[in-house]
Amino acid sequence: MTELQELYQDVILDHNRSPRNFGELPNCTHRAEGFNPLCGDHLTLQLLLDGDIISQANFTGNGCAISKASASILTDEIKGKTVDQANEMFNQFHRLVMQEPGEISEETLGKTMIFEGVKDYPARVKCATLAWHALNGALNGQTLSTTE
Ligand code: ZN
Repeated sequence: MTELQELYQDVILDHNRSPRNFGELPNCTHRAEGFNPLCGDHLTLQLLLDGDIISQANFTGNGCAISKASASILTDEIKGKTVDQANEMFNQFHRLVMQEPGEISEETLGKTMIFEGVKDYPARVKCATLAWHALNGALNGQTLSTTE
């Protein structure tokens, strides 16, 4: 199988074709941009927090299939999570694709586990983690994240 066949699984292709939570989020409380100059992916993540709970998450922008599908699945999975839970998801996703030691739980990561395969393709790791860096930035008051 080629790199693309291996990575562009059906779920990823589906989220790329019909991204979930795509578009401006009116009244968002947190937002951050993510830029991956290596691939040209440029996404903005918008969050609506209700106290400590992420009640809605949207994204806008343009990018390759991996970066868009990752943002689409991320925004689906973090909805209803607390800020602490979202930070923990960020840490675990980072470990998953960077092959770093530490806890990785399927229960915590949910559907975002599908990106495990990108760990073998360093250039693609940046595409898959872009939305996550934007999430981390949005939650920590950093409005621009780049993968460089
Ligand atoms: Zn990309």
